[in-house]
Formats: sequence, structure tokens, C-alpha cells
Amino acid sequence: MSTPGATPSNPANLRIAIVGAGIGGLAAALFLRQLGLDVTVHEQAAELAEVGAGIVVAPNMVRLLHKLGLGDALTAFAVRLEAAWEFRSWRDGRVLFVQPMGDECERRYGAHCYVAHRADLVGMLRRSLPRELLHLDHRCVAIRPSDHDVELAFVDRAGGTSVVVTDGVIGADGIHSAVRSMIGPEVMPRFSGLCAFRCLVPAEQAPEMARRPVQTLWLGPGRHFVHYPISGGRLINVVAFAPAGAWRTESWTADGEITDLRAEFAGWDATAIRSRTGRRAAPRCSAMPRMRCCRSSRRARRRRWRTPRSSRAALAAPIGRRSRRPCSATNAFAGRGPRRCSS
Ligand SMILES: Cc1cc2nc3c(=O)[nH]c(=O)nc-3n(C[C@H](O)[C@H](O)[C@H](O)COP(=O)(O)OP(=O)(O)OC[C@H]3O[C@@H](n4cnc5c(N)ncnc54)[C@H](O)[C@@H]3O)c2cc1C
Repeated sequence: MSTPGATPSNPANLRIAIVGAGIGGLAAALFLRQLGLDVTVHEQAAELAEVGAGIVVAPNMVRLLHKLGLGDALTAFAVRLEAAWEFRSWRDGRVLFVQPMGDECERRYGAHCYVAHRADLVGMLRRSLPRELLHLDHRCVAIRPSDHDVELAFVDRAGGTSVVVTDGVIGADGIHSAVRSMIGPEVMPRFSGLCAFRCLVPAEQAPEMARRPVQTLWLGPGRHFVHYPISGGRLINVVAFAPAGAWRTESWTADGEITDLRAEFAGWDATAIRSRTGRRAAPRCSAMPRMRCCRSSRRARRRRWRTPRSSRAALAAPIGRRSRRPCSATNAFAGRGPRRCSS
């Protein structure tokens, strides 16, 4: 340690560089600042853009946000779930199981369970961190530890380089962590064989049942379909998991086609949605000219189950052009690396 007076048992003034300004990196920075550490965050992106879609903010995370004094800020945009796991049959929409949350959740786990737009969460954490501690356009490319400190090398988009000397480094740089590969053995994610379509649907275009503060999961052969409201209920987050076939591009922003999504879930119950809402869930997917998602090439795909002739996809109806980030998706990975896809 080069910082005078700083030791692991007395961390005052310890300098910590965090690589990655996602939810993990920003939250770590806020907690370390609470302990009085000298923290900086280094993010490769030139701006923290409004990327991503829905994410579950489980009670264990909510408890931590309260410790950061962000409980009230969270409720300004997050939706409190009244039920977390409402499983439904793909065939007829029958409810197979439901786990009530609401007050029961607080009683059991000491906090409520929310769903939120990832960008809102990142924005909230970012606003809590003094601006000068976040260094954007800083891609970490090398870490050189010595007996006294550790040196981090960064490059920016214009090709410029910079060096930061610190006492400790936290790698919060995601599933393809550069920090991890520089300090430990290579860890390869294992492909789950799934791909996930993600869409944001304006709430006014969604069936009423999808606007409930409920995480609903439709289960079917080889596929499942998840939806819940986010952004104060203004948007419905939709994630649809299907076999990936030959698709291998892993990305949160890869483009996809709404027609592919509809084809994947052809024959899934939509009658159930209509009958519960009294509202016709007429497919308007074509209203959205472009969506972001990852999926396999249909031509390369080997179909594992045959779909019935009906071509109505559950909840495909409300997908519209006015969502603030129409649709994005990523391959779902499982295994030793963190799962990239959460519902
Ligand atoms: C763009 C994006 C969109 C996402 N959207 C969703 C979503 O809609 N729903 C969902 O459930 N989960 C989403 N996730 C994943 C989810 O946010 C994370 O899995 C989870 O929050 C854990 O976050 P993390 O902070 O560990 O890593 P991440 O959220 O992956 O953040 C890692 C950060 O590190 C930065 N970084 C990577 N390499 C370097 C480097 N060499 N130098 C500097 N910075 C670097 C990245 O740009 C990123 O900002 C998304 C992740 C990303 C990156």
C-alpha cells in the first residue's frame, strides 16, 4: 500500500479504482465511499446511454439501496410487484402457480420486490456519485501490480492513453471482464442454447393483464415468455426465450425482427389475454419496423417442436413503435460466467 496510514484494517484514504460503471460498479463505489475510501470509477462507454430494458430489483438489492439512502428514489420509477412468479400455461393461459409478494414479501424478506428499467437504476446510482469520480471513455486495457500499488492503463476512443495508480482494483466490467482475464485464469461463458427477444411495449398498447404489477411467465415447450411493467407502469417489459439454433452473436443491442418473435411463439395463447381483459389483442407487430434482438437465423434453425397452425403470439399484440427502446435481446448464457439474460 502506498497510501499513508491505509491498511486493510484501517482503509481510510485507500484508493480504489473500479472498472465498469454498470449497476455493480456504481453500487460498489457508493458503498466504498460510505466507508470513506477514495474511489474512482472508470467506464469504457463515452456516455451511460439509455440501454437495456427490464430488470428485477429483488429484496436483497432493495435492502442495499435503502442503506445507500436510495429507497425513495427507487420507488419514483420502479414498480412494486404484487406477485413475482405467476406461471401460466402457453396453451390456454391457465395460472399454474403464483407467488404473492406485496406485504408478504416485506414480512418475509425485509423489503419489497420491484421491477425497473435498467437505465433508470443506473441513472439513479450515477446521480448519487459525484460527477468527478466517474471517468467515461476509459477502457481498461492493462493492469500492472507492484509490491506497493497497482497501475491501470486506459485507452479512449480517440486513441489516447492514460494511467491511474491506485491501491486496489475492483473489476465490475461485466461478463467479458477484461479485469478478470488480466488477473486470473480465463473463464469462458457456457452457451445455454437459448436466445432472448426483449421488447418494451407502451403500456397503453398492452392488454390490461400485462399492466398489472405482476411478473408473469408463460411456460411452453422449449420456450418461455415473461412480462412485467416498468418505468412507473408506462412500459411493459417483454422477454421471450427460445432455442437459439445457430445464433451466436452475444449482445444487448443486436437487431432482430418482430416477425421472427411472432413466428417463435405462434400458437401460444392469446385468447386467454383477450378473455381476461375483454380487449382484443390484435397483432400489431408490423407497426414496429425494427426491433433489437438477438436470435438465430431461422434458416439455420433446426425446429425442435412443431407449432400449431394458429399464428397468434401471446402478447405480441402490444408491441408498438413508441417504446423508448423498442426491443433488444441477447443470447442467454449460463455456466461459470454470470447469466447475461435476466427477465
Ligand atoms: C448495455 C447493457 C444492457 C443491459 N440490459 C439488461 C437488461 O435489460 N435486463 C437485465 O436483466 N440485465 C441487463 N444487463 C445486465 C445487467 O445489468 C448485469 O448483468 C447486472 O446488472 C450486473 O451488472 P454488472 O455491473 O456486474 O455488469 P454490467 O451491467 O455488464 O456492466 C459492466 C460495465 O463495465 C463496462 N466495461 C466493460 N469492459 C470494460 C473495460 N475494459 N473498461 C472499462 N469499462 C468496461 C461496460 O461498458 C459496462 O458499463 C445489461 C448489461 C449491459 C452492459
